[in-house]
Amino acid sequence: MATEVEAVGGRTRAVRDWAAARLDEVVDDLAVLVDTETPSTDPVLLAAGAAVLTGWVLETWTGSTATTLGEGPGAVLQVDAPGSRDGTLVLLGHLDTVFDAGTVEARPFAVTDGVARGPGVFDMKAGLVQGVYAVAALDALRMPRPSVRLLVNADEEVGSLGSRSLLVDAAAGADAVLVLEPGGVAGTVKTARKGVGLWTVTATGIAAHAGLDPEAGASAVHALAALTGHLVGLADPAAGTTVNVGVLTGGTRPNVVADHARMEIDVRARTEAEAERVTAALRAWGPVDPRVRLDVAGGWNRPPWSAPAPDLVSRAEAVLASLGVAVDPREVGGASDGNILAAAGLPVLDGLGASGGGAHAEHEHVVVADLPVRIALLAGLIAGD
Ligand SMILES: [Zn+2]
Repeated sequence: MATEVEAVGGRTRAVRDWAAARLDEVVDDLAVLVDTETPSTDPVLLAAGAAVLTGWVLETWTGSTATTLGEGPGAVLQVDAPGSRDGTLVLLGHLDTVFDAGTVEARPFAVTDGVARGPGVFDMKAGLVQGVYAVAALDALRMPRPSVRLLVNADEEVGSLGSRSLLVDAAAGADAVLVLEPGGVAGTVKTARKGVGLWTVTATGIAAHAGLDPEAGASAVHALAALTGHLVGLADPAAGTTVNVGVLTGGTRPNVVADHARMEIDVRARTEAEAERVTAALRAWGPVDPRVRLDVAGGWNRPPWSAPAPDLVSRAEAVLASLGVAVDPREVGGASDGNILAAAGLPVLDGLGASGGGAHAEHEHVVVADLPVRIALLAGLIAGD
């Protein structure tokens, strides 16, 4: 460990110092990206945001080329920066945010007491900025690196349904994938993420008077209430499996047997085996009253990512140690597109974006003083040995 730390230490400290000397510039570039609103649901703003990002990356990465894969909401921006060494690393990010158009008017990018705020600053515009600066730093300092392929989609916050196959194809053959999703503290890396299964179940029963004619009715509400009990029983917190019936609606009046009900379910699983167990148990369940019809729609939006990439984790540990920062490896319940690329067989390290907190919330923020450390972490991971 000691020798590895020494080997990478000089270079990563040089990158950190290079970034620290340009921190105002880094923050200015972050301000432009945050104030360029990119809600997942607004194709016009997303296209404008992609143009801003592309122009900036091409300008910052000398000799790079950009292309757009696919079209529409699932389109993926690809920027290639040829390297001085063999191999290719993928930097993966998303441009879209969960915030509606106009949010930036109410609370534009601002830095107060060393904390940057603004819609999407943490998830994940600061991550994009760090990734771009990490490559720029290596090149400015003439440090050898493999080729880098930046992939940025714009439908991540709505499930990456259009972009996922484009991401898998564009990342195929890469040596590793570094995901620019938010971190936590200066040393955070994310080494595994649960899979997310999303289902909607619609029950159709038979309406009847609850007093005069109850046996003529078949309650859709009762069926989904029973299914709720069944699903809650499938959770296994020790195995990392959680089940949340987040939405449950149905019926019209207390004295009417409900002919309609609907539920939305969120399942998280750490392993493929657990994901399959819950799926099978959901599919196998049938209402006690066979006159109620169930329609089940949905599936695993992102598969479990349970196999950390040990080489990347130890590399991150060594880079951080050389900067005097303790590594903070986390396994988290939230999924990302890292799950999709890990399932495609690629070594993935995630959570390499900014330190801060409050993703998807108004108190979202980024710790400005940690940006150079996080840029140096990325640069160290990109440069490898
Ligand atoms: Zn994100």
